[in-house]
Amino acid sequence: MSYLTHLECGYCGSTFDATVLHTVCPKCGKPLLVRYDLEEAKKSLSRDDLVGRVPSLWRYRELLPVSDDQNIVSLGEGYTPLIHATRSGARLGMEKLFIKDEGLNPTGSFKARGLCMAISRAKELGADEVVIPSAGNAAGAMSAYAARAGMKAHVFMPSDVPLPFRMECAAYGADVRLIDGLITDCGREAHAQAEKNGWFDVSTLKEPYRVEGKKTMGYELAEQFNWTLPDVVIYPTGGGTGLIGMWKAFSEMQRMGWIDDKLPRMVSVQAEGCAPIPRALAAGEEFAAPWEDAHTVAAGLRVPQAIGDFLILRAIRESDGTAIAVSDEDLSTGQRAMAGEEGIFACPEGGATLAALEALLDRDKISPDETVVLFNTGTGLKYP
Ligand SMILES: *Cc1c(COP(=O)(O)O)cnc(C)c1O
Repeated sequence: MSYLTHLECGYCGSTFDATVLHTVCPKCGKPLLVRYDLEEAKKSLSRDDLVGRVPSLWRYRELLPVSDDQNIVSLGEGYTPLIHATRSGARLGMEKLFIKDEGLNPTGSFKARGLCMAISRAKELGADEVVIPSAGNAAGAMSAYAARAGMKAHVFMPSDVPLPFRMECAAYGADVRLIDGLITDCGREAHAQAEKNGWFDVSTLKEPYRVEGKKTMGYELAEQFNWTLPDVVIYPTGGGTGLIGMWKAFSEMQRMGWIDDKLPRMVSVQAEGCAPIPRALAAGEEFAAPWEDAHTVAAGLRVPQAIGDFLILRAIRESDGTAIAVSDEDLSTGQRAMAGEEGIFACPEGGATLAALEALLDRDKISPDETVVLFNTGTGLKYP
């Protein structure tokens, strides 16, 4: 069913038993990553086996961490369309511009991928109460999957989060608490309450399985491009789960012989008001120092400090990619262009990828004849 073998710390390399619940590495406090027996997978699983499987991320079943099918908590997440952006492309002189539209996921964002996996695995390993700090989309996704799993959900959100996010969580029956602060403040409070009450904390990269859900974006890209990969992937980065996950997926597929050596350049986009990753990349740092006074309308990008910063920076460097900050004005323009030119009502974070593409074309960092994928990570409908 699953080739899952164990957990391994992404920083110190210590290994751990995957049959019990873990948060971060008990030795160094960094994120744990899920490992599989890819030698065995290479022998007995082929790309052709995927043909005709369910049109959701569960088509990559053996490379996902859930052991027993009974524990899968699914709402049909993943396998989102890869849209050929012909009108935006024409405006920019590009023939091969694509948008992976994650707004079509359950709960309207790609957070569904990660939380579906985290909740399925939490159920499998015996958790019955879960908690999350969230700028909005992660909370909605967790609350939905927790409802479906019959678990109690606790949500800590910044008090300035748009109303639709709060209404959504409440509708799923979550206990919603508003914190006067940023996502990092919510994280501190969620952690304290988790310790006190015995709740399982599913914060970004503080549990190992959200990355496994998000890595399926990498598998889907390969499958949708008929087992080649684009030249460039542009990804709006907060905690970095998706970028880290896709990079992990590419490496898994290479080890199974599903794709060749050519990997995309990974571009991380942040907002000018909160850009710890571009700053750390430019300074040649291994870790990204916390960003002071973080502000941007793109709530998913308002993450002043990410626990997986070194994994994000590593993926960008290994891929020969880059990181770039765009202004709120430019990301809003990108958002309107995606809607007006392609019929995709993107979230502001998604709009940021188009703004970043335009800036990188201007700077000759991307050539117009390259194949480029923009990630629209969520629907624009929740941002009034
Ligand atoms: C959470 C979020 C992001 C950032 O995702 P990470 O994988 O944590 O970097 C981007 N866009 C939207 C809409 C989000 O909800």
